[in-house]
Amino acid sequence: MTERTLDAAASSACGCKVGRITEQYDLIGLDEELVSYWTDRTDERYSTRDLAEHVNQRVLEGALDEAGLQYKDGEVENTYRLLTGDDVSSGTRVQTRKELERDNVPVDDVESDFISHQTVYNHLTDCLEASLESPSDEERLERSRDKLGALRNRTAAVTEDTVAQLERSDVLDIGEFNVLVTVTVTCEDCKQQYTIRDLLDQGGCNCAETDD
Ligand SMILES: [Zn+2]
Ligand SMILES: [Zn+2]
Repeated sequence: MTERTLDAAASSACGCKVGRITEQYDLIGLDEELVSYWTDRTDERYSTRDLAEHVNQRVLEGALDEAGLQYKDGEVENTYRLLTGDDVSSGTRVQTRKELERDNVPVDDVESDFISHQTVYNHLTDCLEASLESPSDEERLERSRDKLGALRNRTAAVTEDTVAQLERSDVLDIGEFNVLVTVTVTCEDCKQQYTIRDLLDQGGCNCAETDD
């Protein structure tokens, strides 16, 4: 136990599987790649599934290098697909594994070094302490408005249905009707009431502004 702790401390890599394979296959610059691909704010952004695939292809590439194999552009990606793809027949997969074994690539070991998207995610968030950029205040307010708006609409719809049903079965007497859902928030410091919409638009209670 103590020995393992010392070993982990002696190396710069983290203790998780990604750290271990980074060292084992000499995957230079992998952590930087993972963080930058993951936090990219364009459409090119990698999902953790994409990232796991990227790591696994680099593992495979490392294994081919180690076995002294030459490969053409795109060949690593294709071999990876033949080993793991859902659309690949088991015959093709067996054939691919046989060829790799013949070329002295330890396929079983390499495959057990492949990682899942969950492992990449844990490595990013726990070991590298990376996080996706948090939304701006304006984005958060906007999302909250949407969420509460949908909730109000749902409450209105259910209320309307309920009243209409009771009316149809003669339990309740009412003419044409309208349902309006208003949610109010009271600031307990100054007892001022706001509709939730006004409060979000205004960004806080008036009394809090003079407070600091
Ligand atoms: Zn890690
Ligand atoms: Zn107040």
